[in-house]
Amino acid sequence: MREVFRHALPTELSDSEEAAIKSKLDRLEKIISEIKAGKGNRLKYVAGKLELRTREEEFINVDPIQAAGRLTLDARKALISYGDGYSVCDNCRKPFRLDKIKKPQLEEFHAELATFLGMDAARVVPGARRGFQAVVSSLVEKGDIVLLTAFSHYTEFLAVEASGGVVREVMGDEKNIITAEAIAERIEAIEREEGKRPALMIIDHIDYLFGNEHDVYGAGKVAAEYDVPFLYNGAYTVGTMPVDGKAIGADFVVGSGHKSMASCAPSGVLAVKDEWVDKIFRTTAIKGDLTMRSFGIKEVEMLGCTLMGAPVITMMASFPHVKERVKEWKNEVRRSNRFIELFLKVKGSKVLSEMPRKHTLTKVDTTASFDVIAKTHKKRGYFFTSELKKRGIIGIFEGATRDWKLNTYGLSDREIEYLGEAFIEIAEKYGIEVE
Ligand SMILES: *Cc1c(COP(=O)(O)O)cnc(C)c1O
Repeated sequence: MREVFRHALPTELSDSEEAAIKSKLDRLEKIISEIKAGKGNRLKYVAGKLELRTREEEFINVDPIQAAGRLTLDARKALISYGDGYSVCDNCRKPFRLDKIKKPQLEEFHAELATFLGMDAARVVPGARRGFQAVVSSLVEKGDIVLLTAFSHYTEFLAVEASGGVVREVMGDEKNIITAEAIAERIEAIEREEGKRPALMIIDHIDYLFGNEHDVYGAGKVAAEYDVPFLYNGAYTVGTMPVDGKAIGADFVVGSGHKSMASCAPSGVLAVKDEWVDKIFRTTAIKGDLTMRSFGIKEVEMLGCTLMGAPVITMMASFPHVKERVKEWKNEVRRSNRFIELFLKVKGSKVLSEMPRKHTLTKVDTTASFDVIAKTHKKRGYFFTSELKKRGIIGIFEGATRDWKLNTYGLSDREIEYLGEAFIEIAEKYGIEVE
């Protein structure tokens, strides 16, 4: 029906358009009565060969990267309304910058984002990776050292590579945790051996490999002591748990909208302390040589404007919910541990992440349980994910039976019990001992 209006005169509908609206309404009534009667055909395609995506409705989705990026109901509504290209630019006025738009409330949203992260200024960016890139490209010259860790995400490496920097890593301890001591030791070793300190350090609060929590508060202290700018990578924390950048001692906080803030991809946030605003959010100074054109206060690292439609509008629509849900983090962790408790009842199954769990992302090892079955099963490893799928569980890497990850973020107590029981049920079916 919106489509009919989109092609009609603003003043009135033609007879054929009126008829089209009426026939759409009739169709809607028919669909509703079919649904009520429990019959009718399920829609399979959105358009052409594009299948309808019903993963979140039909399944419990424990995909490691998808769990906290699922849209809220408000975000899904906003998406329909604001899906058109440059939709948030309707009321863009001088000085023509995304973060200055008052309607919809982008300016206010940017200020709230900074406050939410305990920082002074924030910008939305197309993914956490673009946040790393903006900082690295501002701070790192060719040959400069950037301190990463043994668990750093590849996008951090690539951001350094793009700037011509070199990477030095900090190793984890025997529990796969990055400690403040290890960071300090590596900085000292670098200074001894290479005659300079890192131009930047990036530490992930929760790493993507194990979902372990690293000592970011300690990292903040080390950063201050050795005067190394510190980028806090909150790809798995910003939007799921409370994050206070200044309390941590971070110079920069980066979050991922599509991973942890219930937003469309690509989206993310970069927040900085006051002292960095002029450097990271520097404005353009370039001029055309013939026309002498210049471009006002557009920010170089942001290439002027960043998220101009669906990504930012879903971030905004989800934001009130995100602010509330971070307060519930303890319950998410409790449910994560409850799931693990059930999961470990299957003999031979192990957890490779730190225990007890401090996050909802967990890496497990089922080499001595489900992988034993896979060895002789005609479907090999696929028997496992297919048994899970039969029970409505999806998101575990297809065919994986040795080590694999899952994320229980957002699941209710009821879903957690169901999920845990599903593993037990599959174990029992194949004669694996259950405690
Ligand atoms: C997912 C992830 C990223 C990348 O986030 P994008 O928003 O997709 O750019 C970076 N770092 C870590 C630790 C991640 O888990």
